[in-house]
Amino acid sequence: MTEEVPHNPVRGAARRRLAVVAAIAVGAPVLAAGAASAQVSPGGGTSAPGDPEVTSIQCLTRCIDGTTGVVKSKIRLLGTDLANTKVVSLPRSDGARAKDKEPIVKPNGNVIARVRKGAVTGAVRVADTFGQVKDSDYSFTVGTKEQLLEVQQQFRFPVKGPHTYGDGFGAPRAGHSHQGIDIFAKCGTPLIVTHTGVVKANAYQGSAGNYVVIDGQGVKQDYMYAHLMRPSSLRKGQPVTTGDLVGKVGETGNASGCHLHFEIWGGKGWYTGGSPFDPEKLVRYWDSYS
Ligand SMILES: [Zn+2]
Repeated sequence: MTEEVPHNPVRGAARRRLAVVAAIAVGAPVLAAGAASAQVSPGGGTSAPGDPEVTSIQCLTRCIDGTTGVVKSKIRLLGTDLANTKVVSLPRSDGARAKDKEPIVKPNGNVIARVRKGAVTGAVRVADTFGQVKDSDYSFTVGTKEQLLEVQQQFRFPVKGPHTYGDGFGAPRAGHSHQGIDIFAKCGTPLIVTHTGVVKANAYQGSAGNYVVIDGQGVKQDYMYAHLMRPSSLRKGQPVTTGDLVGKVGETGNASGCHLHFEIWGGKGWYTGGSPFDPEKLVRYWDSYS
């Protein structure tokens, strides 16, 4: 039974039996039984798990926001009884479904799927290996490339020039662990503002060398740039815009080789109640388009 049918209120196992009955009776493939027959009582036989139930849909890649993506976005489905998911689909404007037939079921029961070509905003439909099909109660929004571009342009990769990656977050350091990511580039390579905000610090410190911190506006992220060649010309409190010059790659402070040490602090920010997190995914994403 590969045909996807909309969910009906009969529980999975019961519906499968109903389906068999219907197929015998009318010699046709399973149809969406709008009226659930109460005559079929559950119990006995092989039982499928409950119907798959999607309770939350998150956008993971190419996201316009947390619940809005575009074609080719990776999405995460949370819910119950998703372990046997076989096909994840979204509607298409021509009435067909844009299907991902190779979703990944995680050990924790979450499902990772792709938004396929032609997908438009609508309920996410999950079909499992038991032939159970269920639409999510609310819609996942599929936006346009233009909208994605607009969001992407709000964030820029901090190094404007050829670069390579060095140590990542958590790498061992004497007495502590690395709180950021190292991006190697020629000394003098321009460093730019990742996201519009306000300069929170511009100072020198023994290990960070010349450093700058920018408090990102509306994103609950602070960005810390270390080892700048010279003190930045930015003033504390100065508003800055994505792409503005921060300074140049250097090796001041405790650095071997010209590189940017870059940290992202979440929550309440850099030394104001927040904490640094592994920025690699974000940084590599920004690197992929800027
Ligand atoms: Zn570093």
